[in-house]
Amino acid sequence: MSFQRVFRRLALAMLGAAALAAPVRAETLVLKNFNLIDGTGGAMKPGSAMVVDNGRIAWIGPAAKLKAPAGAEVKDLAGKYVMPGMIDLHVHVGLVKDLKLDIDNYSRELVQSELSQYAAYGVTTVQVMGTDKDLVFTLRGEQRASGRPKMARIYTAGQGLVFKGGYGGVPRLNEPVATPDEARKAVDVQADKGVDLIKLWVDDELGTMGKMPPEVSAAVIDQAHKRGLRAIAHIFYLDDAKRLVDQGVDGLAHSVRDKPVDAALISAMKARHTVQIAETLAREEAVFEFGAPTPTLNDPFFRQAASPASLEMMASPERQKQIASAPHFHDLPKFLEQAKANLKVLQKAGVPYGFGTDAGAAGRFPGYSEHEELSLMVESGLTPAQAIHAATGEAAQFLKAKDLGTLEVGKWADAVVLDANPLADIKNSRTIRAVYVAGQSVPSIKR
Ligand SMILES: [Zn+2]
Repeated sequence: MSFQRVFRRLALAMLGAAALAAPVRAETLVLKNFNLIDGTGGAMKPGSAMVVDNGRIAWIGPAAKLKAPAGAEVKDLAGKYVMPGMIDLHVHVGLVKDLKLDIDNYSRELVQSELSQYAAYGVTTVQVMGTDKDLVFTLRGEQRASGRPKMARIYTAGQGLVFKGGYGGVPRLNEPVATPDEARKAVDVQADKGVDLIKLWVDDELGTMGKMPPEVSAAVIDQAHKRGLRAIAHIFYLDDAKRLVDQGVDGLAHSVRDKPVDAALISAMKARHTVQIAETLAREEAVFEFGAPTPTLNDPFFRQAASPASLEMMASPERQKQIASAPHFHDLPKFLEQAKANLKVLQKAGVPYGFGTDAGAAGRFPGYSEHEELSLMVESGLTPAQAIHAATGEAAQFLKAKDLGTLEVGKWADAVVLDANPLADIKNSRTIRAVYVAGQSVPSIKR
């Protein structure tokens, strides 16, 4: 037996002995005297407290009724605001280093550093929309085995469905399909891997590329349903959104951006319970904002999300000029405004909506994007309470994640502590003082 193996056996034996000697002690955390925004959409509850036992909320209620268990770690959060960690239903991870998107960047190290960055900004769960390598299933498996990752929780669509010659996906990752039959087989491949959902792209990048034809999208959606999975579509055009809703798509991963949403789309979405799962307003803003000097580049809340090399490149007039010279650059602000107007119309009409940013592509930074999304949702006409509800309780409902999204008994204690009230001013979502994932304090951004 080698020295290493002897040593390993000895270490294992000692671990076993320690486990026998010391019974597993409950790890109990008490937070008290805070203003609670619980993620259910209900009113804020001042003077709240909660008891967290091994990562889950064991009790939550008025601080006056708190019975702190003996030996618990107690944190007095007088004057603070506590809300659930945010859930972003549309991100990409592991793709970008210093503004360069390349599937070869995808590694455990990069994905985990991004998941840690999401958590640092109070985003404790993310859903990756169709651009993951298979490594994601290992990472997700490790997270779900414990339930207590020290970073954002990950959901994945694996490799999303792209039409051959069409728009979407990442080069050398997503294998395009050309026919309904190929599409069904590709959905089966993803289902066999254990994806959480199926993603498909239906767009032509403003007429510059091919678009997935109706018979192929119908096959993707139908096969996803046969495998017990929901199908979520990238869309841009109103007409595509309508056809996909008629084909039974379960959610839209972006806002309709070419035209106002109309009564026909609204009634179809309501009848079929189709969810506007992500509005990606932060994406619509980021694609043109950095085509000119912007105060965002000097905002410490933004700067912590970007690498020094990225910041330097983004500040360069040459890069800004290059962005501004792209075809359709001058249409991009119109698409943002259309997306904002459409969100307000859908919300008023009672169409269910979630929260998502499309963060994780070049120039769209994990963590920062979500706070910008909240601000843009409020600019669209939602109240801060509605925006936060979308990013917490409602997003969890879409995920069917029964133990995420709200701060209630039995749920994981995924929570963000804020210095100022985000219901009074949504920009206060940025006053992050601490972040917890399953009751564990994780490093948060600097104030
Ligand atoms: Zn995306």
